[in-house]
Amino acid sequence: MSEPTATAQRVAVVTGAARGIGAATARRLARDGFAVAVLDLDETACADTVAAIEKEGGRALAVGVDVADAARVESAVARVAAELGPPLVLVNNAGITRDNLLFKMDEADWDAVIGVHLRGAFLMSKAAQAHMTKAGWGRIINLSSVSALGNRGQVNYSAAKAGMQGFTKTLAIELGKFGVTANAVAPGFIVTEMTAATAERLGVPFEEFKAKRAAVTPVPRVGEPDDIAHAVSFFASEGAGFVTGQVLYVAGGPRG
Ligand code: NAP
Repeated sequence: MSEPTATAQRVAVVTGAARGIGAATARRLARDGFAVAVLDLDETACADTVAAIEKEGGRALAVGVDVADAARVESAVARVAAELGPPLVLVNNAGITRDNLLFKMDEADWDAVIGVHLRGAFLMSKAAQAHMTKAGWGRIINLSSVSALGNRGQVNYSAAKAGMQGFTKTLAIELGKFGVTANAVAPGFIVTEMTAATAERLGVPFEEFKAKRAAVTPVPRVGEPDDIAHAVSFFASEGAGFVTGQVLYVAGGPRG
């Protein structure tokens, strides 16, 4: 979906954009006409995403940040505003898994997952909304998951991803009058390093793992990062201004 020229200079921030869904989303938003801040834990790891965007004629900036660290989030968003322009689109994509059954899960694994997803989205949204409300236009897109509906071994992650949905709906209610929408994309099984790591942890070859998931998915395949990038692109678009507080499952079926 290409954007009208009015959005050509708008700036989008994508967290966790060094690889996977975040990298595909950053590239897609650049193709849509946004200048894109590529945020990830390690700034040097963002180089490939930045290079891919620049190769296609886009503008991008690599910024290292831990989204769960308030001071680093403040300075990262300030740097984006100074070097690219005020961030008017925010994609809260950074994520981790620390899977285990409840009785074996330790507090560190609970805190880490809740911290990156929920605290991270809270801190990033709080910093970015100042620019959006000032401009009277903004888009916040949060990555939820089909795991929000419950998934064995993911009590921390499913709580975080369900939390992202409530967070999104409240942002929509609070920010609508400032021209800022907030929506969530809830992916099913997407081929990335995150799902490859899950297969490895379960001791299943990744190709076999993917084939099994495809076989139980109504659209009989696994998802690709570009499937998610397309949905994010819609929510970020000018024409989606009356769509807010929604959760879009992109899972090849009602819940993957
Ligand atoms: P991924 O390949 O593991 O990429 C996640 C990226 O986030 C990594 O580059 C990671 O950096 C970065 N990151 C982790 N913690 C961070 C932090 N504190 N601050 C900044 N960046 C951080 O994951 P993905 O599969 O693309 O997933 C992207 C999002 O989609 C996540 O929110 C995930 O929960 C969600 N999702 C994925 C799937 C799926 O099937 N893949 C399904 C549903 C939802 P490091 O490499 O340095 O750790």
